[in-house]
Amino acid sequence: MECEICNGAGWFQQPNYQHEVMEWTQCLDCLAEEKYQQDLLSRTAKLISKTSQEKMSKMLAVFCVKKIDSSRLETMLKEKNYISIMSFLEVNLK
Ligand SMILES: [Zn+2]
Repeated sequence: MECEICNGAGWFQQPNYQHEVMEWTQCLDCLAEEKYQQDLLSRTAKLISKTSQEKMSKMLAVFCVKKIDSSRLETMLKEKNYISIMSFLEVNLK
């Protein structure tokens, strides 16, 4: 749901009556939410990091096999194309 204060922009205009101008003000609701999301991300990453690299690789491989067309995946494997498989994961795990 979009923020009702700033419509998701992170900033909104507010009148400054003393100087009779409109001022850009940072939306504290969005800032707090952003900080919370970052904190959630780092705590989640910390917990997941307890797993082994082998187990993590296997979980991601299952995802790749399900989502990437077999012949495309074969090409990536044949070329040992680490960059394209990692970009695929980065884009598709969002
Ligand atoms: Zn906001």
